[in-house]
Amino acid sequence: MAKPKFAIYWAGSCGGCEIAFLDIREKILDVDRAVDLVFCPCVMDTKYQDVEAMSDKEIDVCLFNGVIRNEENLHIAELLRKKSKILVAYGSCASEGCIPGLANLTNKEAIFQYVYHDSPSVRNPEKIVPQTETKVKSGKLTLPAMFDYVRTLNQVVDVDYKMPGCPPVAEQIWAVIEAILSGNLPEKGSVIGINPKTVCDECPKTKEEKRVKAFIRPHMIKNIDPEKCLLEQGIICNGPATQAGCGALCPQVHLGCRGCYGPAEGISDMGGKLAGAIASIVDSDDPEEIEEIVGQIVDPVGTFYRFNLPSSILGRKI
Ligand code: SF4
Repeated sequence: MAKPKFAIYWAGSCGGCEIAFLDIREKILDVDRAVDLVFCPCVMDTKYQDVEAMSDKEIDVCLFNGVIRNEENLHIAELLRKKSKILVAYGSCASEGCIPGLANLTNKEAIFQYVYHDSPSVRNPEKIVPQTETKVKSGKLTLPAMFDYVRTLNQVVDVDYKMPGCPPVAEQIWAVIEAILSGNLPEKGSVIGINPKTVCDECPKTKEEKRVKAFIRPHMIKNIDPEKCLLEQGIICNGPATQAGCGALCPQVHLGCRGCYGPAEGISDMGGKLAGAIASIVDSDDPEEIEEIVGQIVDPVGTFYRFNLPSSILGRKI
């Protein structure tokens, strides 16, 4: 019997999701036995033309990671949607926008200005910037045009499942592969491979409903109580609004949850939810003092929307 056809693609991303796939270790041999990997630019010399030549829906499952940052990302997202029966937004970039999505706080023009002109590490007296077309002796070189802002996969094509995480943990990746191979898939549109709780529900630290007079950064605290909730010790932790699935890895080593699994089920805007959670633990009724305490949170947008700005209600700064 023919094996199911499998594809893994990276668009605008760091490649960590591909590396995370290897974290399933020896189970990778089971994957190899069970599926036929037909397209994966990270490890195989397959070309876009190979995918274009396939029949529609010929690929059984495609794990797509990365954001839609440029025309090439968009073209391949549309192509893989057409060629795949099941398309999974694999990892935080494809699901929520992740760190590349923070580029939505600025625009293409400002990014090019900094990267090719103003950055202290750049020397560019001729003011050369990448062009989408460059004539050379042997013909024409092309580069995909960069969009003004970043989009998630489901903002450009229909997505069957989301698999958040930066990157998703190995247990989750394996659970998803098992579900796919057994055909035991949840309802279309679901977050796949994890249960619908928050990181706080997985965290072993104790909450005492304490309120705080100050927010501090982890390197500034001398006597951290390893048993108690970080937020209640004044350390920003995104656990109350973040989708469970990682096993509260960061809080377990006394680092606040960064929110890389995206908003938990039922939360439409993670930054809004976190702002509410943080406000509820501020120990003051005096507006001036509240402003002073909240003002101690460094970079609130980069903290509360770090992994999800493109998929938030605001989406970007205009
Ligand atoms: Fe939730 Fe973070 Fe407190 Fe753990 S440390 S209970 S994840 S807020």
